[in-house]
Amino acid sequence: MASRKKLIAGNWKMNKTSADAVALVQELVGAIGRQVDVDVVVCPPFTALEGVGKVLEGSSVKLGAQNMHFEANGAYTGEISAPMLRALFATHVILGHSERRAYFGETDALVNKKLLAALKNQLRPILCVGETLAEREAGTTLKVVQTQLEAGLDGVSKELASSIIVAYEPVWAIGTGKVATTEQAQEVHGFIRGLLTKLFGEALAMRVRILYGGSMKPANAPELLAQKDIDGGLIGGASLEARSFVDLVNAAAAK
Ligand code: PEP
Repeated sequence: MASRKKLIAGNWKMNKTSADAVALVQELVGAIGRQVDVDVVVCPPFTALEGVGKVLEGSSVKLGAQNMHFEANGAYTGEISAPMLRALFATHVILGHSERRAYFGETDALVNKKLLAALKNQLRPILCVGETLAEREAGTTLKVVQTQLEAGLDGVSKELASSIIVAYEPVWAIGTGKVATTEQAQEVHGFIRGLLTKLFGEALAMRVRILYGGSMKPANAPELLAQKDIDGGLIGGASLEARSFVDLVNAAAAK
């Protein structure tokens, strides 16, 4: 089995002023800034990217954004482009988060355009997929995930596929305190690995990290991270406080 380095990414969402963000990341760098056994990414709001990026200089922690526009520049009031993120030394970008899909009408086609633009600009996309509670109860989880994944990755070449990170985030588990069981999570992660194999071949699919997201906490992380296709976590609530995020990184390092 290919060994994949675990990845823990913090999605700070619309939280923290730039000063609060800098204070948090200073604590993180002090605790895990030399962590090499696990890849660590923090995704602050746009307004804090520059300040957080400066604190991260020389550390092993990477900088990510939570969204981007697919065009490089132009008349798109309020938007931020991939080259702008690169200029702030961001290396990752979360795309297709369920909150973007639900509150801002992002479709699979739009997510795909963003993903292709991210890859073109050497940003590693963290492509989020996941079913709602109604979809799970209707028995359509795998179908929903397949549609989101295949549409999101449409047109991605084999050469660029290894830059992709997938995050399986059951919508009903995000910010709710309800975590998927390890069986539920591993079933979908294994299914995603199978889809990636069909798309890009086995060797590549074995290298792509598939993160779990949805109320991951230090208490439930070890069991989830022990599953064979769970390669890390995309963390919302527990990334807003240094102690819990550091504990999650340490839990991943112990695997
Ligand atoms: C998320 O929004 O990506 C997420 C996983 O949030 P939480 O950890 O708070 O459920």
